Amino acid sequence: MERFDVVVVGAGPGGTAAGERAASLGLSTLILEEHATIGHPVQCAGLLSTDAFAECRVSDRSVRNRVRGARVVSDLGGEVAFDAGETKAVVVDRGELDREMAVAAADAGAELRLKAPVLRVDGDRVVTGGPSAGEIGFSILIAADGPKGTIARSLGMTRAPLYFPGSQADMVVETPVDTRLVEIYPNAAPEFFAWRIPVSERVVRVGLCGETNVPALFDRYLARWPGKIVHRVTGVIPLGTMPRTYGRRTLFVGDAAGMAKPTSGGGVYTAVRAGRYAAKTAAACLEAGDVSDRTLATYEARWKADFGREIALGYRLILARRRVTPEEVDRLLRAFSSPRVIRAIVEYGDMDRPSGLLARLCRMPALWPVVPILMRLGISEILAQDSGR
Ligand SMILES: Cc1cc2nc3c(=O)[nH]c(=O)nc-3n(C[C@H](O)[C@H](O)[C@H](O)COP(=O)(O)OP(=O)(O)OC[C@H]3O[C@@H](n4cnc5c(N)ncnc54)[C@H](O)[C@@H]3O)c2cc1C
Repeated sequence: MERFDVVVVGAGPGGTAAGERAASLGLSTLILEEHATIGHPVQCAGLLSTDAFAECRVSDRSVRNRVRGARVVSDLGGEVAFDAGETKAVVVDRGELDREMAVAAADAGAELRLKAPVLRVDGDRVVTGGPSAGEIGFSILIAADGPKGTIARSLGMTRAPLYFPGSQADMVVETPVDTRLVEIYPNAAPEFFAWRIPVSERVVRVGLCGETNVPALFDRYLARWPGKIVHRVTGVIPLGTMPRTYGRRTLFVGDAAGMAKPTSGGGVYTAVRAGRYAAKTAAACLEAGDVSDRTLATYEARWKADFGREIALGYRLILARRRVTPEEVDRLLRAFSSPRVIRAIVEYGDMDRPSGLLARLCRMPALWPVVPILMRLGISEILAQDSGR
C-alpha cells in the first residue's frame, strides 16, 4: 500500500495551499481531487480582497477586473456608496486561480491525483474510488474537501451549523456597467444578500445566497437584470466553524471546517491561511513523532489566533441578520450614507477583518438615529462579547 506523510483531500485553494506548504517543508504529500479538472465546476463569485488575492501567491493571470468600492442598495430608497480611489478587491476566474495554485503545489513537490474521490477514512488510510481506486496510508490527513464534508462524516465529526445555498449567473449585458464598484442588495435575500459583480464592462456576475427559498429569490432577483446568461453556478457556503477542527490524525481546512467569513461568505482567504497552518502543524507533529489529538490541537490554536475572532463575531452578526426587516436595512443604509461614515469605511474597511471598522462605526454620532435598531438586534452585546474575548 502507498503511504504518505500527508494526504490532502481536495484541490481547492485550502487543499493546494496546504499541499504546497507541506511539500515545501519536506513532507511526502499527496493531494487527491475527485474531479478531472481542478477548479471545475466553479462555485464562487471570485471576489477577493487584495490581501486575500496576495495570500494565494499567484500571478495576475486569473484577474478579470479590479474594484475600488461598493454600492449597497436597500431597494426602498436608502443606499450607501463608496469608492476608495484605489483597488480594494479583484474579480478572478476561480478555475484559473485554483489551477495556478495547484501547479505551485506540484512545483513544490506535492503529488496531485485527479479523478480520485476519497470515499471514506479507515484508521490511517483513505479509501478512494475512480480509475485508481484503492487504499492510501497517511500519517496526517488534511481534509480540505469543501462543503460536502465527506471526511467529517466518515470520522463522525460534528460539522458546521449552517449551510447557505447560493446561485449565480454570469451575464452579458447590453449597457456597459461601472467596473469599479460591486453592488450589494441586502433586501433581495432576507437572511444574507444578493450581489452584482462587474467582471468587465459587458459581463456581470449576478448572484444571491441565503438560508431559505433561494431558487425562487434568485429567479426574482435575476429578472431585474436584462442580459444573456452565459454561465450558471450553484453552491453552498458552510457558516460557523465545526466545534473541533482536528482529531483522529485529521486537520479540517476551509469550507470543510466552515471557515468562510459569515458576513460575506468569502472563504478563500481563510481556507488558504488555514491550509498553511495545517501543513505547519503536520510538520511539527511528524517531527515530534506525535499525532495525538493533544498535539494536533496546535492547529486550531493557530487559526483561531489569526482569524477565529472575526469568524465568531461574524457568526453572531449573521444570526442577528435574520431579524433585520427590509425597512430597518433601509434606515441603516441611510445612516451609513453620512460622509463621515463613508470616510471611516474607506479608511478602516477590511473585507477580511471587518470587526475593527464595525466597533468604530458603532461609536459614531451619525449612527445614533439607528441605535434603537442596533439595540433591538443586540449589536452592542455582540460587540461587547467580541471585545471581551
Ligand atoms: C455562490 C458562491 C459564491 C462565493 N463567492 C465567493 C467570493 O466571491 N469570494 C470568496 O472568497 N469566497 C466565495 N465563496 C466561497 C468559496 O468558494 C469557498 O469558501 C472556497 O472555495 C473554500 O475553499 P476550499 O479549498 O476550502 O474548498 P473548495 O474550493 O470547495 O475545494 C474543495 C475541493 O475538494 C474536492 N473534493 C470534495 N470532496 C472530495 C472527496 N471526497 N475526494 C476528493 N476531492 C474532493 C472538490 O472537488 C473541490 O475541488 C463563494 C461560494 C459560493 C457557493
